Amino acid sequence: MSRPPQVDRRDADGFRRDAKKHLGQNFLHERSVVDRIVLAINPRPGDHIVEIGPGQGALTFPLLDRHGALTAIEFDRDLLQPLAAAAQSHGTLTLVPADVLSVDFSALAAGTPLRLVGNLPYNLSSPILFHALEHADAIVDMHFMLQKEVVERMAAPPGNKVYGRLSVMLQAYCTVTPLFTVGPGAFRPAPKVDSAVVRLVPRAPAQVGIDDPRRFADIVRAAFGQRRKTLRNALHGVLDGDAILAAGVRPDARAEQLHVDDFIRLANLRAP
Ligand code: SAM
Repeated sequence: MSRPPQVDRRDADGFRRDAKKHLGQNFLHERSVVDRIVLAINPRPGDHIVEIGPGQGALTFPLLDRHGALTAIEFDRDLLQPLAAAAQSHGTLTLVPADVLSVDFSALAAGTPLRLVGNLPYNLSSPILFHALEHADAIVDMHFMLQKEVVERMAAPPGNKVYGRLSVMLQAYCTVTPLFTVGPGAFRPAPKVDSAVVRLVPRAPAQVGIDDPRRFADIVRAAFGQRRKTLRNALHGVLDGDAILAAGVRPDARAEQLHVDDFIRLANLRAP
């Protein structure tokens, strides 16, 4: 049986019409949402703006129109040529064909801290956020579109039912400001979930006050790994009850009741 001929379904601008689900491709088409994001970013002269996942350029071209130059990291090689071609009439686009998780933001900054932006692939949002935290001192701020539920977790206060590891890790290093929500209809194809735009502004290292980032991350992970347990039990083998008390925290408290500062004091405790 002969196969039907392969049809390469591309639009006039060279972009394929079908989105790649495994790359989290939900392309933004609602112009009013794009305008609100660009307004929130408010590009200023001299800014080094880096977009993660430019896709078909929904944010890229309006940002180029405003700012004149942009770096964009895109994993899907099929998008590179049409992006480069379409960008020519908007400004200078430097494309980095890479998995964003392999990009060294500190090296990319090369002395001019970055403003990261992106409508992120939702399947990778937490790894991208943690990767950015590792380079927080090379980042001025971040404006990301994410699943609304993830933004709620990022910004949740202690005691909230979605307060957890992501909330503590991000709030320890950044100011987290949810900006606005976006419905599924703004994207093609429409995702099954609501989305939200969030602004993250990394704090200066002296303001953060964490002595050992790895130990801090380990303690937060252990505390929330067993969130129903008391801290004394959840941190068994890491810190004992007396040490927890010495940090000014009740050993019978649960992780979800602790403030970010409590976790920082626990992690900064030195062995006597
Ligand atoms: N910015 C476009 C928009 O708003 O329409 C596209 C957003 S789409 C939700 C996510 C984009 O991230 C896609 O272009 C996808 O190919 C890209 N992407 C997925 N995984 C990636 C990775 N590991 N590194 C870089 N880009 C990635």
